[in-house]
Amino acid sequence: MKAALFDQINSMKIINKENPEINDNDVLIKIITTGICGSEIHAYNGAHPFRKPPSILGHELVGKIEEVGENVQGFHPGDYVTVEPHYGCKQCVHCQNGDYHLCDNKTVLGTEKWEGAFAEYLTAPASTVYKIPGDIPYHVGVLTEPLAVGVHAVKLGQIKKGDKIAVLGAGPIGLLVAVAAKHAGAEVICITDAIDHNLETSKQLGATDTLNVKEVSIVDYIDETYGKVDQVYVTVGLQSTMNDALQIVKKKGKIISIAIFEEDIKVDFNHVFISEIQILGSSMYVKEDFEQAIDIISERGDQLEILTKHTFPLQDIELAMDAAATKKDGAIKVLVDL
Ligand SMILES: [Zn+2]
Ligand SMILES: [Zn+2]
Repeated sequence: MKAALFDQINSMKIINKENPEINDNDVLIKIITTGICGSEIHAYNGAHPFRKPPSILGHELVGKIEEVGENVQGFHPGDYVTVEPHYGCKQCVHCQNGDYHLCDNKTVLGTEKWEGAFAEYLTAPASTVYKIPGDIPYHVGVLTEPLAVGVHAVKLGQIKKGDKIAVLGAGPIGLLVAVAAKHAGAEVICITDAIDHNLETSKQLGATDTLNVKEVSIVDYIDETYGKVDQVYVTVGLQSTMNDALQIVKKKGKIISIAIFEEDIKVDFNHVFISEIQILGSSMYVKEDFEQAIDIISERGDQLEILTKHTFPLQDIELAMDAAATKKDGAIKVLVDL
């Protein structure tokens, strides 16, 4: 099969390799399309904690089952599926508590241990595989994984009907946090970005207030319009976004960080302490988040089509990585077709 090997920083090579073999509990999936994740752009630039070369990246995928292992039940060749791209050791305290996303020994798709979906075929334990309803187009089904990131963050934020929230950053994760927040009943979703096209897109997905950070200060805007917000979702890892979050969140409010910070930042912990602000990290998702993401896609998938307008064939994966990194031509979630 053909695969894109991430052989060194800023380089992907198309290689030919053996099709992966399945064990009794696995399925073999023929990949249809794979999304490029922000974490892979960080990896490509050499700035990701565990996604390193040499490896085959790619963990946001849809495909069709080609073959099932002997012990696998409930899946058949031809099933339209996606994969939850991690599983735990099943032994540690986190796994035993159902928090396998926090397992120190978890296996993550798109690493040396479990080769990723920028390839024609992929093996996956059947326990990580989810069927997607047949009427959902491939370029929408492929959003299940990043939407699950948003669903998990919103779950940690404990959004209640009528809440006012801010989402800092309208890239794919920020936009999908907005989708999950809308679904959870948020009344005000104020989203920021430096790119007008992303802000336009966010309106179509349910954001109520959009601010271009080059033109408007979110601190002033929130102060004048709402006073404070109940939660802030930080999807861009910068000193300035964390400063803004601390200033716009209400007392006892929550800041949920879903960002990779490439540099250390300062946080005013006296303000955190005096105002009883909760700062939470949100990392990936678990099964129920994945299932909820599929439910949301089933309900409002047609709205999500605007996110995946940019598609490249596998042999042009370096161009695809560049489009995803630079967001050129209005690219939001870039797909690699297999
Ligand atoms: Zn991802
Ligand atoms: Zn574990």
